[in-house]
Amino acid sequence: MRTVIVVGGSAAGLAAVQALRAEGYRGRILVVGAEPHLPYDRPPLSKGFIADNLPFEHVRLSEPALLNELGAEWLIPARACELDLDRRMLRLEAGDRLGFDGLILATGVSPRVFPGPRPNGVYTLRSLDDAAALRTALGSAPQVAVIGTGVLGMEFAATARKLGLDVTVIGNAPHPLARQFPAAIGNLLAARHRAAGVMLRLEVQVAGFEEKGGHLSGVRLADGDIVPAELALVAIGSQPDVDWLRTSGLPIGDGILCDACCRAAPGVYAAGDVASWWHSGYGARLRIEHRMNATEQAGATVKNLLGAAEDFRPIPFMWSDQHDIKLQSYGIFPDDGEVEIEGDMASGRFVALCHNQGRVVGALGWNAVKALRQSRMRLVEAMEGIRLDELQLTVG
Ligand SMILES: Cc1cc2nc3c(=O)[nH]c(=O)nc-3n(C[C@H](O)[C@H](O)[C@H](O)COP(=O)(O)OP(=O)(O)OC[C@H]3O[C@@H](n4cnc5c(N)ncnc54)[C@H](O)[C@@H]3O)c2cc1C
Repeated sequence: MRTVIVVGGSAAGLAAVQALRAEGYRGRILVVGAEPHLPYDRPPLSKGFIADNLPFEHVRLSEPALLNELGAEWLIPARACELDLDRRMLRLEAGDRLGFDGLILATGVSPRVFPGPRPNGVYTLRSLDDAAALRTALGSAPQVAVIGTGVLGMEFAATARKLGLDVTVIGNAPHPLARQFPAAIGNLLAARHRAAGVMLRLEVQVAGFEEKGGHLSGVRLADGDIVPAELALVAIGSQPDVDWLRTSGLPIGDGILCDACCRAAPGVYAAGDVASWWHSGYGARLRIEHRMNATEQAGATVKNLLGAAEDFRPIPFMWSDQHDIKLQSYGIFPDDGEVEIEGDMASGRFVALCHNQGRVVGALGWNAVKALRQSRMRLVEAMEGIRLDELQLTVG
């Protein structure tokens, strides 16, 4: 193999380049990245980057010297806009055509937005540039509305509150993180946010934005109420960046549809948030938008591109930091799972085990990093017997 192209120069893209070199690949590597920045880490963007005003150096994923040593060519900013599988050719928006022997697609996701016009003061958060703009805008926005009760929305609410702002979170779910965790955990999280001064408007729809002179003045709810706000973050989920691939002949659905080895076509693999692959352990298709998965999956795709043919079957892992809580979880949390608490919920340090059909299928640590690690092995052992299509699951 003489040339490998990696599309997407972020967490999964960089991990793919590192894995290629670590596996002994000495050929040409081209990285096509749409953003004007070398790889940086997104998790701090909703946390310390804004709350503690961290500099860019703090979020970059590799020191420039180490990046150089990898010997890859970084084409940034450059956007891939067409893939010709027969000719094994990638076209960039600027017109260049790049030939490849191997291709790794790591284009991630983009935030969902509300249809229709949005006044100044309404933001989404995905990129470093988004975070920098938000950081500046928060300085002149005493009242903040967060639309969406998922991980991103709740983290941003905690961050804005830390800055001393009035924060209201609006969502149609009954509790925060409803797509990830059972009500017992979500309600506890809601209580922690309320104790920190965050207002929660749950089980309500957003009807639109109010504006004065072109700038946001409030968020209008379906019940007629208006939540006053000079700044709103829309955090209502994301969609895989696959539009440019729709004419390529690759299987596209909710992401790039891959087999158990993360292969979408001969010599073409996908990794990270954009990859929807067959998890042979769970017997189901998964697409995971979490940081650890991006790195692990990129490593797996590289091995398979170089000939390994191994199924990628991780135990899903995520973490989130909100106020003084470090949440971490392994596995899955079916809607009908039974929750067993190890430790004392009131102490602010415990592990919640999720049982389904007599097995532990998910484990969540609430400020319990060490104890959670010990639960992981139980999940690995239980995974073989689990069939996701038999569970009531809201896949997050
Ligand atoms: C604010 C924030 C906080 C987060 N916090 C956590 C957390 O606490 N814990 C956790 O587990 N996960 C967290 N995540 C999720 C985690 O950051 C992602 O799972 C991870 O970044 C996925 O990496 P990726 O490389 O697959 O995709 P991305 O990081 O999205 O990178 C994809 C790259 O591809 C580029 N691209 C897209 N289309 C093209 C194209 N056509 N041509 C060229 N380039 C293209 C994009 O511009 C982007 O640079 C957070 C995400 C955000 C945004």
